[in-house]
Amino acid sequence: VVQVRNLVKSFGDLHVLKGVDLDLYRGENLVVLGKSGSGKSVLIKIMVGLLTQDEGSVRVLGQEVKDLDSRKLNELRLKIGFSFQASALYDSMTVRENLEFPLVRNVKNLSREEKDKLVEEVLDSVGLLQTINQMPSELSGGQRKRIGIARTLILKPEIMLYDEPTAGLDPITCMDINNLINQVNEMYKTTSIIITHDLTCAKVTGDRMAVLLDGVFGKTGQFDEVFERAEDDRVKSFYDYNF
Ligand code: ATP
Ligand code: MG
Repeated sequence: VVQVRNLVKSFGDLHVLKGVDLDLYRGENLVVLGKSGSGKSVLIKIMVGLLTQDEGSVRVLGQEVKDLDSRKLNELRLKIGFSFQASALYDSMTVRENLEFPLVRNVKNLSREEKDKLVEEVLDSVGLLQTINQMPSELSGGQRKRIGIARTLILKPEIMLYDEPTAGLDPITCMDINNLINQVNEMYKTTSIIITHDLTCAKVTGDRMAVLLDGVFGKTGQFDEVFERAEDDRVKSFYDYNF
């Protein structure tokens, strides 16, 4: 569902992506790892058309992203759930209103009942139905993360992009979020890219690991292949510092 070929992106003299190739297959959960500043967020921003590349091709759900006009790009984005690194909820809205927001903006002709039903269903699937009338400020960081994920799920995306979903959470809450990601993939049959620094998260949620090393991906594979039998020193040190 995603095909990246020879993707190059620089910011001035800073060469971030230097010829990235990547294939993501339907139903797969790919974990993307790499040092801070290695270009992980840039990569997924290019996939949703928030940034444009200097060279190369990025095809998402069969379409070359850079060639899309704004209407087509919007249509594509509706099929992609993008859980931002700093996923902000609207503080002045209740949980219910936060979840309704993408529906109100993007889906016409939904009745009050249909909206309520969708919001309740999605909120229930992240285990937070009881918070429906609360304000985001009344929730814990982990709960806010779950609500953020629920909000991206409400449009039933085909692809989910998670940018550091467990950053800043305690290990138990991390595990909750990891389980939620797996549960979402099962329930909604999504294909996912999960960006993380957390190797436990990687191991638990990922079918395949891809490590971004100096602007290109190293060999991808299952967790054990990539980490426990790593030959590249950069990959080894990544692993050693985590465990
Ligand atoms: P982290 O793990 O810290 O989130 P990352 O791998 O996601 O890191 P990116 O956000 O992709 O890193 O950024 C890669 C590099 O590109 C960084 O050095 C960043 O400063 C630079 N960069 C990203 N976006 C822009 C931008 N819009 N303009 C200029 N430089 C940018
Ligand atoms: Mg990032």
